Amino acid sequence: MVGGGIGGLACALALHQQNRDVTVFERRDRIEGRGTALGMWPEALCALDAIGLGERVRRTGVAQQEMRFRRSDGRTLARLNVGRLERRTGDLPVLISRAALISLLRDALPSALVRTGQPVGPADVADLCAEYDVVVGADGIGSAVREARFGAAHRPRYSGYSAWIGMVPSDGEVSQEIFGRGRKFGVTPAEGGLTNWYAPIRVPQGGLGDDPMVQLRELFGDWCDPVPSLIERSAGAEILNYPIRYLAPRLPSFVSGNAVLIGDAAHLMTADLGQGACQALADGVALGTRLAKSPDPEPVLNQYDRERRRPSQRVATAARLLGAFTLRPGLSNLRDLTFRAAGTLTRHEPRPSRGANTASASVSDTGVRTK
Ligand SMILES: Cc1cc2nc3c(=O)[nH]c(=O)nc-3n(C[C@H](O)[C@H](O)[C@H](O)COP(=O)(O)OP(=O)(O)OC[C@H]3O[C@@H](n4cnc5c(N)ncnc54)[C@H](O)[C@@H]3O)c2cc1C
Repeated sequence: MVGGGIGGLACALALHQQNRDVTVFERRDRIEGRGTALGMWPEALCALDAIGLGERVRRTGVAQQEMRFRRSDGRTLARLNVGRLERRTGDLPVLISRAALISLLRDALPSALVRTGQPVGPADVADLCAEYDVVVGADGIGSAVREARFGAAHRPRYSGYSAWIGMVPSDGEVSQEIFGRGRKFGVTPAEGGLTNWYAPIRVPQGGLGDDPMVQLRELFGDWCDPVPSLIERSAGAEILNYPIRYLAPRLPSFVSGNAVLIGDAAHLMTADLGQGACQALADGVALGTRLAKSPDPEPVLNQYDRERRRPSQRVATAARLLGAFTLRPGLSNLRDLTFRAAGTLTRHEPRPSRGANTASASVSDTGVRTK
């Protein structure tokens, strides 16, 4: 296994639980996660259930009931009742920090199986393939296994936007995305009374300034609550600069000989649908459980490619389209109209009576600003 991130650890765990030999090569000195809160949707929770971690993730994280879409002046465009999913799938999405998810995966795997401080370069891949029955490229965005097996033409491309992301103590925030021209501000709760926020901004590659607070205040300082207060509470805390990228052209196969790709190595996608880690878990568990049961890896690798490539590539395409639609300045009005229409069409809750005190005092359920 090359890469001890979300997909690699999940795949290694699926193999180890069936008593199959597995070694994880991780370039970093420690297995730990930084950064954003991740939304675990039912497909990912199902994969986590298969490796015995679903309940722990549900207990650790925060269940997501609702997602709001608003304009920067506070007007609600749409509310997505995520609770409906529970009626269909029996599960609500769970928001959990990357650090907590990585810890749960890492702690479930015997540490002797993980070799940290071991970067694998493209030139090492042929030797690994000769030594091991299967080499899984779970090495993320700049995958060495992908480069060795599929060439440098399939590489991460810049989406046209980069995000500042941060995490602050703040309990009870509602999950929401707030739209402006060429930028948006997302808020999701995470475990332990933390709130995760992300602020994608259309800029040329490398174009986010050096001082996040200066830029965040300038671009979002006059937006509706809770944007300015989350920004101000982030002063002095770690704020990450994240260029958003996707893989292009997409791969014709996830398998080359006895090497196979999972997660971002296989289908790096923009963050717009919050699905990259979910897909990495689905890949890792599907591959690991099947490999563990079969004495012959070849048909398993082909089956994995048939079952996982098209669906995950479709999710990547959808995420990219959504990113373009929500962030292209010329489409702002159309975007707001579309979300508003979608909000109206999917609204099913009774309207609150006039003067009723809703959860958000400043925004009515009908999309009319009452502040
Ligand atoms: C702002 C933002 C928000 C996001 N929000 C969500 C969300 O809400 N829900 C969601 O599902 N996804 C989300 N994602 C996407 C998600 O973070 C990734 O898709 C996911 O981490 C991919 O998992 P992975 O295992 O493929 O790669 P990673 O988790 O990146 O792991 C790759 C591992 O390989 C190691 N490695 C790399 N190169 C080598 C090498 N040459 N040799 C050895 N080791 C190597 C790395 O150190 C790392 O440990 C978001 C992404 C961003 C940027």
